[in-house]
Amino acid sequence: MGRFFERTDDTGKITTFWFDYPGEKVNKISPDVLDELEAMLKELALENPKALLIRSRKEDIFIAGADLKTFQEAFHNIQLAEKLIDKGHAVFRYMESLPFPTIAVIDGVCLGGGTEFILSCTYRVATDNPKVQIGLPEVNLGIFPGWGGTQRLPRLIGLEQGVMMIVTGKPVDSKKALKLHLVDKVVSKEFLEDALHAFVDKILSKNGAEEVLSYRRTVSFRNFLLEKNPLGRSFLFNRFKKGIDEKTKGFYPAPLIAADLIERTASMSKDEGLNEEVKTFKTLLHSHTEIPKNLIDLFFIQEEIKKNPGLTSKAAPMPIKKAGLIGAGTMGGGIAFILSQKDIPVRFKEINQEALGKGYGHVFSLYQKEIKRKKIPKEIADRKFQLVSGTLNYDGFKQADIVLEAALENIDVKKQVYKELEEIIRDDALIATNTSTITIKNLSEGMKHPERLIGMHFFNPPEKMPLVEIIQGEKTSPVAVETAAALCKKLGKMGLVVKDCPGFLVNRIFAAGANEAGYLLEEGVPMHDIESEIVSFGMPMGPFTLADEVGNDVAYKAFTVIENAYPPRMKQPIITKLMDENKLWGKKSGQGYFLYDNGTKKRENPKIALLLKGAKSRRSPKEGEIKERFLLSMINEAARCLEEKIVPSPKHIDIALLYGMGFPAFRGGLLKYADTIGAKKIVERLKSYESEFGVRFNPCALLTEMAESGKTFY
Ligand code: NAD
Repeated sequence: MGRFFERTDDTGKITTFWFDYPGEKVNKISPDVLDELEAMLKELALENPKALLIRSRKEDIFIAGADLKTFQEAFHNIQLAEKLIDKGHAVFRYMESLPFPTIAVIDGVCLGGGTEFILSCTYRVATDNPKVQIGLPEVNLGIFPGWGGTQRLPRLIGLEQGVMMIVTGKPVDSKKALKLHLVDKVVSKEFLEDALHAFVDKILSKNGAEEVLSYRRTVSFRNFLLEKNPLGRSFLFNRFKKGIDEKTKGFYPAPLIAADLIERTASMSKDEGLNEEVKTFKTLLHSHTEIPKNLIDLFFIQEEIKKNPGLTSKAAPMPIKKAGLIGAGTMGGGIAFILSQKDIPVRFKEINQEALGKGYGHVFSLYQKEIKRKKIPKEIADRKFQLVSGTLNYDGFKQADIVLEAALENIDVKKQVYKELEEIIRDDALIATNTSTITIKNLSEGMKHPERLIGMHFFNPPEKMPLVEIIQGEKTSPVAVETAAALCKKLGKMGLVVKDCPGFLVNRIFAAGANEAGYLLEEGVPMHDIESEIVSFGMPMGPFTLADEVGNDVAYKAFTVIENAYPPRMKQPIITKLMDENKLWGKKSGQGYFLYDNGTKKRENPKIALLLKGAKSRRSPKEGEIKERFLLSMINEAARCLEEKIVPSPKHIDIALLYGMGFPAFRGGLLKYADTIGAKKIVERLKSYESEFGVRFNPCALLTEMAESGKTFY
């Protein structure tokens, strides 16, 4: 019995290796696992068994992937990474060369290195367990499959499907895996043992193996046209590369390198192809180390924060069986959808039938989209939609364990709502506000039970954005915080506990950058230049496109709260007020910084130039100025948030901005990026901008101290 694999033998010379990584919930492939596997295979080979089954002792997991801790280390030590690649190749090649059949039995998650492992087995059998997922998600970490995946997968399931799985990183379930011929058989989990016996008997029988293998070889006419002739192949790869370019905007090189590698090796022998994969992977290690390093580091930070989102108490969370929801607008609709998705009955309260109808319509359309995308069967969507109900008074709110409030961003409206709620809801029921900017302290003034008020700041649109800022006011009870965190977990969101302050974390930091974009515009820098420089840094969209998406009325209101809270540095440029006053509210009103036709962005709005006629004449920005002003102002504000202990560490800030504002992951996070510049240079540049543009660029105490001591954020 090894450390990782337990060996069992039956009387018919069928051996099983049971993978059971000690002390972990999942199986993963580390250098030690590879060593042990190799030794056990070599020993077994001497015994001439009839067949070897590879199985897992973990519930719902076959192999989750390569051990990322080792990879994290390896990306900081290229020699180690190279050794790891060579080792994996050697073991999987040996596995493939064994003279007896090897059968992987997949009854759960099988990803990355796990999939590369099963590809080197002779046969693959999956169960109908809905937890089965087979895939190669390496591109999500800035790399591509480097243990034979780029060669064995396309050779098994065809170029088109193989490349697709590798460049998108998307896994498939058992049913799809069978359709793709990625597995040879899907068996019932309930009758797994019998089914396995039958499968092994079959492949050991005279014609059985040939039958299974010939099923695998069936190639469609489409595949033949696309893959078997060079013209078809070149068409196929051009299409893939174009798609990758559009999706990655050139920021993530791994999928393109993988597609190119597969194209180059398509006509080679498998052995030559495998050698080429090793070579290409090692080249990537030297040329593009920063991106995988950043992505793997972020992966671990995210896991760390998921485990502890900043909770300090040991209070037990309250179970949430029913929820009330005030306001069925943009946010309310999305929140009702995600609650009902998780089978929590939710009851809207609105001010009139029309608003209530809009809320229902919103939730309904979100379910329709899910049905259309085949994410959920219609019967289940119908049942979940039935969980959403509505009222114009507070009927039914007595039963709510929590009431989420998504009414207007107006302190008086919200306070009036809490007053009414406190008359109705149970004494132990919680109120969670979705305010974007107003402090819990101010909102809870006058409440009978201020300890029940907490902030749960979902981002727009709630069904897509993964972050929820959990805002703990001075008086918020530990139970409320724990309950909000548990609810986020249940909803599949990244909950992050943030100290109460105007604008909280993400909006406060983003406001500094967005204001700067507005100032540049007023100074006469063309809007197009501002948008494109910020997008070319990796932000998902330019600041003016984003403002139009959010709504310039909403943005103005939010930034005004922030402006008033942090004078004078958060003073808004005049354009934000003009946008609101002139009803240039963005996409929803057809006009904002851009003009829209039925929601589609057309061109810059000529009215902006007229509104800014008092601004200086057009000027070209200095090289790098846009990016620098946008980022430095955010870094400065983020450092202030650390000074004020709004969150405990730079990691929390980087994760919040990644999930709340789409900060480009390949950069590793705003403060990780700041470290690449260095505090000394940052302070120098801030001071230079301060002398040109004033106090808003004044470097904060933390940055100044870091510049002097040479400290970094990480
Ligand atoms: P919205 O204007 O789309 O919806 C607000 C809804 O609340 C309206 O349907 C209105 O009829 C209803 N309402 C007003 N007073 C009410 C009352 N007394 N009782 C019941 N319903 C009432 O606004 P929204 O964009 O959904 O914003 C809601 C909250 O979420 C605000 O606090 C906002 O700051 C916050 N928020 C908004 C966004 C965003 O991008 N829109 C993002 C994060 C947070």
